[in-house]
Amino acid sequence: MPIQPLIDAATAALNMAEPKPPFSPQEARIEANRCLFCFDAPCIMACPTGIDIPTFIRKITTDNLTGAARTILEANVLGASCARVCPTQMLCEGACVMLDLEKDPIQIGRLQRHATDHVAAVGIDVLHGAAHTNGRKVAILGAGPAGLGCAAELARLGYEATVYDKKPAGGGLNTYGIAYYKMRPQVSLDEVRMIERLGVAFRYGVEIGRDVQPADLLRDHDAVFIGIGLGGANRLGIPGEDLPEVVDALAFIEWIHTRPLAEVPVGRRVAVLGCGNTAIDAVTQAKRLGADEATIIYRRGADDMSAYPFEYDLAKTDGATFLFDTVPVEVVAQDGHVVGLKLAKTTACDVRAAVVPGTEWIQPFDLVLKAVGQEKQAGLLGRLFPGLKVDAKGRVEYDPATMQTSLPTVFVGGDAASGGREVVNAVAEGKKAARGIHALLAGAAESGPIQPSRLGMPDGAVGSGFDAPVRVHELEAALKRG
Ligand code: SF4
Repeated sequence: MPIQPLIDAATAALNMAEPKPPFSPQEARIEANRCLFCFDAPCIMACPTGIDIPTFIRKITTDNLTGAARTILEANVLGASCARVCPTQMLCEGACVMLDLEKDPIQIGRLQRHATDHVAAVGIDVLHGAAHTNGRKVAILGAGPAGLGCAAELARLGYEATVYDKKPAGGGLNTYGIAYYKMRPQVSLDEVRMIERLGVAFRYGVEIGRDVQPADLLRDHDAVFIGIGLGGANRLGIPGEDLPEVVDALAFIEWIHTRPLAEVPVGRRVAVLGCGNTAIDAVTQAKRLGADEATIIYRRGADDMSAYPFEYDLAKTDGATFLFDTVPVEVVAQDGHVVGLKLAKTTACDVRAAVVPGTEWIQPFDLVLKAVGQEKQAGLLGRLFPGLKVDAKGRVEYDPATMQTSLPTVFVGGDAASGGREVVNAVAEGKKAARGIHALLAGAAESGPIQPSRLGMPDGAVGSGFDAPVRVHELEAALKRG
């Protein structure tokens, strides 16, 4: 049977409510006043974007929420979404000195949300683009966190930044791939609109290599930033993988973000393959959307999973079950639809988990979500940008100080460079790449315009002929319409 939506709109809204409500003004002041405003604060060191945390918290103690938001957003333009999706327990809050004093850490994430929500609610722009552009153009490939971090920094430095993305709206993973109960896509769309107001142009529905050729981008821009993230889910390589109810976990999460909650199809018995944070987001949302059973299947043991411990605890609280040391060996079908998985126990080996012969059994499922990692894009990028060096693990090679690749005017950041880290790391890398681009082009400005030969491109490459930029608010409407 094809899968169907399982619950009504009111129940879905209740189940998908945010776990922690925003602070009231009084709660925020009380929490901010707990901060010790440490010198050489370890929380700052633990933040990949280096937000001056004690400074913004001090501003909250005096009700200067606009100033607090400015401190946050100047360091991290996606401060509103990071306040919701950062694993703060592992970053700033995990480094808070209050823990050494055997007290609860300062709730930095919630305070950050308090300040950034304030400026969003009252419509104050605390960041501004440069008063004059410097005439230099940069193409940003990918409107996800890395691309947005790069574009915003470039706009503030005076560059004409244009972001290209194949989706109908910007934000990347923040708009399409985060658990709905952690963050509404509107928060991410509002951030994109804020960056648009800095002077950044966005062109959506554009796929590099199909609609736009890299040669044209290189010819028409002074630099290119690659922030396209990762590709589709890795293949399982087992019979039945192409059945309609075997779905990429990120695609399932995107369904939740692009259609009414009560119209999202969910299986009664859901299997989630993998045990990273995407797997946890998928299994918890499947349960919250009405699945009777939602089971994580992982080839190794609990100690080996890449999901954070607090995410694991959340999934258990939501009623998810875990099958460790287990792999699927076949997707079982009836009349063209998934009815189960043939599973087998594994034994840990040095390199990969191996199936234990004779341990196979069939377990009923009607939806299988793949969260077994995503394909790297380096091969594709290597074909699109001849000369781009890729390492033995299939990652684009780059200078970590500047994010510059083997092609002098091509920079990279986010998952396309790292292979998959947190949103905040992607923002930091995008920003670092913007500084690297600025260092390159500001140096070039002193020695004359960059010639095509310096871009690694022949003279006389063809023009691009892009359509007029599409405005974000039009795409928000398109996204809501699905
Ligand atoms: Fe405040 Fe904790 Fe940072 Fe110290 S480490 S400044 S107490 S948030």
